[in-house]
Amino acid sequence: MQFGAVNRFKRFKRSLAYSALLGLGWRIAVIIGFVTISGFLIINKALERNKLNELEVFIKERAARESQIFETISKAHTQATTALLQALNADPADGQDDAAVSTAFDRYFPLQDDGTRRSVDALFDGAPLGVAGRISGMGAFIKAGEALTAKDKRMLLSAFLTAYRVGQAQFQDLPSLYFFTPDNSLLIHAPTRPDRLMFYRKEAPASFDFSSQELVQITLPANNPDGEMRCTSLRPIIYDQTGATWTTGCHTPVYANGKHIGAWGSSILLDNLLENAIADVPEGATNMIITADGKLIAHPTLTKQGQTNDRLLDITTSDNPDLKEIYDAIQGHAEADVFVTTIKPTDCYVAVGRIKGPDWYFVTVHPQDLILADARDSAGVLLYVGFAGLLLALASLLFAIRSDIVKPLRALVRHNQSLARGKFTSMPPEIGKNKAGLNELDQLARSSASMARRLSEAFTTLEQRVEERTHDLEAAKTQAEKANAAKSDFLANMSHEIRTPLTGIVGMLDILSGEDLPDSSKPYVTMARQSADMMLELVNDILDLSRIEAGKTVLKPEPTSLGSLLNRTILSLAPLAAQKDLDLTLEDNTPEDLWVQIDQKALRQILINLIGNAIKFTDDGSVTVTASSRPVEGGQHSVTLHIRDTGKGIPREAQARLFDRFETVKENRTTGKSTGLGLAITRELVQLMNGWIAVESTPGQGATFIVTLRLHAADVPKGATADKQTGPDRDLKGVKLVAVDDNPVNRAVLKKLCESEGFDATVLPSGEDMIAHIAALQKEGDSPPDVFLMDINMPGKDGMETLRDIRALGGWAKGIPAIAFTAHAVVGVVDDLKAGGMQGYVGKPIDRQAFLAEIRRCLSESVL
Ligand code: ADP
Repeated sequence: MQFGAVNRFKRFKRSLAYSALLGLGWRIAVIIGFVTISGFLIINKALERNKLNELEVFIKERAARESQIFETISKAHTQATTALLQALNADPADGQDDAAVSTAFDRYFPLQDDGTRRSVDALFDGAPLGVAGRISGMGAFIKAGEALTAKDKRMLLSAFLTAYRVGQAQFQDLPSLYFFTPDNSLLIHAPTRPDRLMFYRKEAPASFDFSSQELVQITLPANNPDGEMRCTSLRPIIYDQTGATWTTGCHTPVYANGKHIGAWGSSILLDNLLENAIADVPEGATNMIITADGKLIAHPTLTKQGQTNDRLLDITTSDNPDLKEIYDAIQGHAEADVFVTTIKPTDCYVAVGRIKGPDWYFVTVHPQDLILADARDSAGVLLYVGFAGLLLALASLLFAIRSDIVKPLRALVRHNQSLARGKFTSMPPEIGKNKAGLNELDQLARSSASMARRLSEAFTTLEQRVEERTHDLEAAKTQAEKANAAKSDFLANMSHEIRTPLTGIVGMLDILSGEDLPDSSKPYVTMARQSADMMLELVNDILDLSRIEAGKTVLKPEPTSLGSLLNRTILSLAPLAAQKDLDLTLEDNTPEDLWVQIDQKALRQILINLIGNAIKFTDDGSVTVTASSRPVEGGQHSVTLHIRDTGKGIPREAQARLFDRFETVKENRTTGKSTGLGLAITRELVQLMNGWIAVESTPGQGATFIVTLRLHAADVPKGATADKQTGPDRDLKGVKLVAVDDNPVNRAVLKKLCESEGFDATVLPSGEDMIAHIAALQKEGDSPPDVFLMDINMPGKDGMETLRDIRALGGWAKGIPAIAFTAHAVVGVVDDLKAGGMQGYVGKPIDRQAFLAEIRRCLSESVL
């Protein structure tokens, strides 16, 4: 399975789809990636901006909410001021003359023993009191009890009543409404206060002076020229002596006819307000309230309601860098009602909304991460969508490439491959499906199909033509062969016919040369004889070749000792080599007892041709014949013969056509006969034996002909001995022989022959030398030779005379058998020899077998 997948992938990697995907895919990936990431960043930014807007809306809303109470107070104060000024401007004739006012004033705020005036209990408790009816929840402390003018009294009484009416009306929102003057008069509506306003009504000492306190100070024209509502800083409420309840008071100065007459005030208990402000917080964020003068008054870490300490933190003196930065930002945006900024190093968004009235700032601190993560999460979806889009795009691209390009292309490749194999199939069905029309692939396929059609037609025509031509050629070949056979036949017949008269001419010339001719005619006869010989040889060669070509030469393989055959052939050529003073040697590396089936005549002819050429074309040096063999399959032997000479060699360009008929090498022309048929015959013979022949030659360094034959092994015939150079006849080995011949070539041949037979031979050049040699042997008492070998025709003493003289030496010289060798072994001559004391004779050139047989015969017969 795995390998399958690997192979599929390997195939895919080589495919067009893969390279198209690589080329196009990465571009698509880059574009989609770019669009997605840009989209991600833009959306991220937009979402972030959106979040910040939300934050701004939130802070605005929160600031407005926290401001609400102060706006209510401000409204109530404006309402109270209006009412007060109306009352002050009322016509005193309406029963409100100074006397009436004074009476009412005294009833409400009777003069105390300590010189102050304080409200009567009924005003708090709500008991009916004169014309004003029931008044409740009210208390008053007027420090300067006696020194009041009628105007003061009117103003204070009007303010008292206004405080009651407005306080009563706004009671739901405002738990307290009071009026105070800079000279320590305080008129207060606070029906629910747990202390029942006892401090002002009763307990405050006459010395109680609040004119220097913040609440008064912030209302004075000097400190508040615009007459705006101002709130005091946070402080524990006066009546809760534990200091655990915190409050602020907001005060609006009141001017009558341009004169500052006092101020309206309302105090709020802040605990709930502050705690709610902190509690209602967005997730992960922190709310806080910071006053304009740098006090942190609401924060989750500040002590809660009911605890006394650390209800506020002075940022200006604290060592909290974050708070300091937030405060700096607030100061930097003094004009703005709402703003959002960031502070470092905490990477937070700080949203600030101003709480009007007390001049506080509602602050929400949002970690940036929280907002960004939200935005990132939302925008991140785009990334996933983008990635999925990319995959989808790549997959559809792959699909499109595979189905529209790769599949038809593969079909086309298969189609073309089958065309290449010679199968002319029709156009693959995968192609041409394109309904919209022919695209490039379809066009390619169509052109390929029409090409295939044409090729197919061309092939059919071509095949027919080839068939016709083959037929014609075969006919022509048969005819040519017939003509060649007829020519060979004719040649063979002609040669045969010519040979018969030619042998007649040779015989006649032989007879003629024996006649007593005038000296001037003798050379002509000799020349005629040589020409006749050459012609005879040529005719013989032609005859041989024609016979072989006409298939008339049938080989007759017979059991043969390969060594003997080689040896004998070499011996027969030895005189030729000796004439040119060349060393002719045989290196026989075949096994001693190697017998093979071979046509002896054919092999001898091959060897004679090759060795003959080697001798002919070598002026000095040697000719070496090397034989080797190795057994091969089928009971056969592969026999290789090397005929190497040190002669002229054969030019490279001539080597190729060396074995052709009538081919001679220009550079190697000799005066002797040269038909250019020898090697042609040789090759034909070698081929007849299923062998092959080759030549190797470096011009100037000699040539080597190599013949390789495959020969069947033959059984050794009974009684046969391997007649080899190294294996002399056992009977004759060691035979002591003294020979004489005036011809050095003959002497060399004889010597070689004797050596090869293991004879102890002494070969001498003249009759005189032989006589002297025998005499010396006798004199020194050496062992006598077994046989004499006498050349008959010798200058000086001829063979007969020499033998006569030797016999005359007496002793063992008389009984040694003598063999004559002569070229003229005709009947009469033999008789003469015997008469002359010869026991045997051998023809020249010496035939080894005949020679040995003669020696054996002579030795076995008694000479005497
Ligand atoms: P022929 O010897 O009658 O000319 P061959 O067919 O035997 O014809 O040889 C053809 C030619 O090949 C020769 O004429 C000779 O030039 C060249 N040749 C053959 N054997 C040898 C050799 N051993 N060295 C040099 N030349 C050779």
